Amino acid sequence: MLDEFIHEPRVAYFSMEIALRNEIPTYSGGLGVLAGDTVHSAADLALPLVAVSLVSRAGYFRQQIDAQGRQVEQAAMWEPATWAQPLGAKIAVSIEGRAVWIGAWLYVLEGHMGGRQPVLLLDTDLDENRDDDREITHFLYGGDDVYRFKQEIVLGIGGVRLLRALGFRVRQYHMNEGHSALLGLELLRRYVYPPEDLRPGEPPYDLPRVRALCNFTTHTPVEAGHDRFSYALVQRVLDNAADAESAQRSRPAAGEGFVDLATLKHLAGEDDLNMTRLALNLSEYVNGVAKRHAEISNTMFPGYRVHAVTNGVHPFTWTSAPFRALYDHYLPSWCHEPEQLMRADCCIPDAAIWEAHAQAKQMLVERVRAHTGVALHPEVPTLGFARRMTAYKRPDLLFADLERLQAIARQHPFQIVLAGKAHPRDENGKRLIERLHAQARALEGVVPVVYLPDYDMDIAQALVAGVDIWLNTPLRPYEASGTSGMKAALNGVPSLSVLDGWWIEGCIEGLTGWAVGDAAGTNGGDARALYDKLEQTVLPLYYGHAQDPGSWIRLMKGAISKNAAYFNSHRMMRRYATEAYIR
Ligand SMILES: *Cc1c(COP(=O)(O)O)cnc(C)c1O
Repeated sequence: MLDEFIHEPRVAYFSMEIALRNEIPTYSGGLGVLAGDTVHSAADLALPLVAVSLVSRAGYFRQQIDAQGRQVEQAAMWEPATWAQPLGAKIAVSIEGRAVWIGAWLYVLEGHMGGRQPVLLLDTDLDENRDDDREITHFLYGGDDVYRFKQEIVLGIGGVRLLRALGFRVRQYHMNEGHSALLGLELLRRYVYPPEDLRPGEPPYDLPRVRALCNFTTHTPVEAGHDRFSYALVQRVLDNAADAESAQRSRPAAGEGFVDLATLKHLAGEDDLNMTRLALNLSEYVNGVAKRHAEISNTMFPGYRVHAVTNGVHPFTWTSAPFRALYDHYLPSWCHEPEQLMRADCCIPDAAIWEAHAQAKQMLVERVRAHTGVALHPEVPTLGFARRMTAYKRPDLLFADLERLQAIARQHPFQIVLAGKAHPRDENGKRLIERLHAQARALEGVVPVVYLPDYDMDIAQALVAGVDIWLNTPLRPYEASGTSGMKAALNGVPSLSVLDGWWIEGCIEGLTGWAVGDAAGTNGGDARALYDKLEQTVLPLYYGHAQDPGSWIRLMKGAISKNAAYFNSHRMMRRYATEAYIR
């Protein structure tokens, strides 16, 4: 079953979450979507990758919203056998002193251009395991610290062992965020100096060799995004005493525990095990996900060199059917070479762009009607805002002054479509959703606002293509990159966004969209700046379409030719290949 994948060495791409297709709920947001787009681009570019993630049988969660606007969560159980094949191999890791067995499902990602890439979904739900251990790979971002640490042992250590047991040859490891950093510890155990090269008192690990194999992408300047575990917890859970299996294969490390504590503290921090620090120390190549984010990461982690590889989105996946048809006709090689999209501004007729967008908008209008009963107006400008509902994303910024918003709408009518899930333990995020619903009610009759429940890839695809303006208003500098605005650009939808993350690179005022607030931006004045821009620039330009159709379409073409041509995952993967994987 694996023959076609193990004949050549591959880059092993580790991610806690991955968005493979809408039916497989193993993702929570941008990090997982990026992982999926990475594998899709690798498939289109014939770049040999093997992705490693958890099976997350209970998914992230399915969101419903009650009459008061409160989020109701349900497990999103999925059946791996529907989409993936069970692999025979099993390996064990030691957790709390007992062997926990890990198997895997093989999901073969089939690219639309015929490329195929293997994805291993690790699974502890095996007869050999105790009941609680069988649930380690069930809940994406569920449970407490101990549960999370067990998941990270399974992902990092289990993933490396299983790759070897299955016969994969790994040319490079890539950690998509710090969750998988324990993989480096397993490599340290594997690559120890021969006894004659050991220096007295020095640990036996061949750290340079491990660093040469590892790459790390950090994803967030938000503190909670960097996992930390107390060494008391680490020592209790990660103890290799019972790890007979692996002890046979590699010489046990000096000292007690998995890797001796002194070495671990040296690599992962004195006070607690910081997964980001561990990943930084074990990786020769480190990058942030946009230029600004790399700068911030360099100040957050002095002493490390953090490169910048700005994220991108997968062209085919995020382009709506009407725009796919348009690009196929006018720029036929765009799927392999999205750089071709730079010609959209001069090579695609205005009327064809407008017609493709009208179709995408109509599809969104129908979907909204089917799901919520609300009838949006196809001719009224529509603002879209959808992403994880959490404080730094400021989904409520648009609603900061309802009077002003209504005044603007009386002059230039517009409508709003929202979507997004809050993490089940993010009380703040859930209150935001409730408040958005209250504000939507307060605007009734003046500004139509719909909230689509259960935001997922499918809804994202419809939204980024079907709205007229894509809104993003994060609190600077917390939006490391942001990718939904890039998806919008592929569909000719300009962004109206705070200058943070990718938009610092993507915004050409009046050509690809508009900035909210200034570049140096104090966050405080953003609501006012947003209203001013909507009232004085964005909406008048949209309504000017009747007299001067070219001016709005110039923006749509700017979004495609300047941004979609660049902020795509093909460019991103070509950069990882040439700058990180080959070095
Ligand atoms: C693209 C996407 C995201 C990420 O959007 P951001 O703008 O980066 O926050 C989150 N969730 C889903 C379902 C997506 O498709």
